[in-house]
Amino acid sequence: MCGVIGVIGNEENSEAAKEAFLGLITLQHRGQDAAGILSYDFAESNGVQSFHHAKNLGLVENVFTRPVIESLRGSVAIGHTRYATIGRGNVADVQPFMLNYPYGIGIVHNGNIVNYGEVKQRLAKDMHRMSMTSSDSETILNWLAHHIEGTSFKHLEKAVHSIFENIHGAYSIAGILGEGGLFAFRDPMGIRPLVLGKKKLSNGKFGYMVASETVPLHFMGYEFDRSVQPGELIYINRDLELTSSVYQGKNVEPRPCMFEWVYFSSAESEIENTPVYGARLELGHQLADRIAVEMKAGRLQADLVAPVPDTSRTAASGLAERLGLPYREVLIKNRYIKRTFILNSQKNREEAVDLKLNPVVSEIKGKTVILVDDSIVRGTTSRKIIQLVRRAGAKKVYFVSTCPPIRFPCYYGFDFPEQNELIAAGPNGSRTEEEITKMLDADGVFYQTLDSLGNALSKCSLGLVKNPCTACLTGKYPTDMKGAAELTALRRTDRGKSE
Ligand code: SF4
Repeated sequence: MCGVIGVIGNEENSEAAKEAFLGLITLQHRGQDAAGILSYDFAESNGVQSFHHAKNLGLVENVFTRPVIESLRGSVAIGHTRYATIGRGNVADVQPFMLNYPYGIGIVHNGNIVNYGEVKQRLAKDMHRMSMTSSDSETILNWLAHHIEGTSFKHLEKAVHSIFENIHGAYSIAGILGEGGLFAFRDPMGIRPLVLGKKKLSNGKFGYMVASETVPLHFMGYEFDRSVQPGELIYINRDLELTSSVYQGKNVEPRPCMFEWVYFSSAESEIENTPVYGARLELGHQLADRIAVEMKAGRLQADLVAPVPDTSRTAASGLAERLGLPYREVLIKNRYIKRTFILNSQKNREEAVDLKLNPVVSEIKGKTVILVDDSIVRGTTSRKIIQLVRRAGAKKVYFVSTCPPIRFPCYYGFDFPEQNELIAAGPNGSRTEEEITKMLDADGVFYQTLDSLGNALSKCSLGLVKNPCTACLTGKYPTDMKGAAELTALRRTDRGKSE
């Protein structure tokens, strides 16, 4: 998973790179491995250099200094925060990617493509375009560059439709076409989010921002216009004229990733016109209905509900409210440690749990605690947290997941590729709540059901989100999966290097 942003504004007084930088700060939660910005200055197109870029490993605030941002001149810019699923720590894989020929093209990408190996081979064999990195984003850029025959909207549309027809997986993209403008497109199923915002400029025209979530739009004073539609291409030229079209291919149905609402997106964002906060609150309500049955039957009594910070706070408050139990923050986070799930090896993750959370003993001692987390992936973190709360004197610890059991790998941008690594799957593909309770050393583990997840998203979206991607829960993948085994093998090799 990554964060992408694209900005186009007034040529006379644009601060596109500065806006991209500030926007990236608000998208930092989407990826902490690396960051980068590419800008283009139309005024310099006859001069020495019109593209400018800066990128490196690390957090946004570490990659960019004020002089660096000032050097990124121009009225159009794209930016990226990287969460690597392959090629961690490779400087060459840091985005944006760019090519000088034809026209000068740069892109930033959120998602993963499933038939990466096949696309890479076709690029090499049929088009004589070699990969310089291990990133699938580079193959998308090469495909685009090979198929684009001009800088008009129609030229771009033709090349993007060729991507839609040949490259399977998840891709939300923002890009710059030199001498053209800013473009953005989303794969035909819209697996990864992308939104469009606009802002009135001093010259009376609108400037535009595209981003993975609405949070940077609000932060930078852009009005939320709409979600970019699945299969939609948007092109904004240097005169700030916007053109768009939606791909009308076969078997195309929106399948946005459910995990964006459950875990990944910022609580204050809206994805597919559906508030993340509202969805999480409703996930808590749905779970409360399940726990209430246990309480009524006398199988569970609790003194308080507590979130595992940060993502699950909203759901935990909804759950406590519905059950009529006190909501307490009994785990205090050291905010200077990176998000555990994103950390790039098992050893790092385990160490980070110890460093990251401190229990509030006075609130825990002698109490039965319902701990709420957004999900249980490998189980490493959950087990450590349960131990932490027990050591702080809890009488009993119940563990509740707002996401149903994750039993299958994600090929669309999340890094849980090996099925046997997932606690809800294990070597036989499925473990029961009772088995997981024992493994986590909890007094009980309760998961959201698939139906209640669907109910929560449908209710909050007023029926708009009908059929989200739930492939990591069900094993039913929405895209062509040719190439998945090869991708798994590639990741296994890559993971071996970073453990
Ligand atoms: S497999 Fe799971 S995490 Fe991946 S896109 Fe689908 S719902 Fe999201």
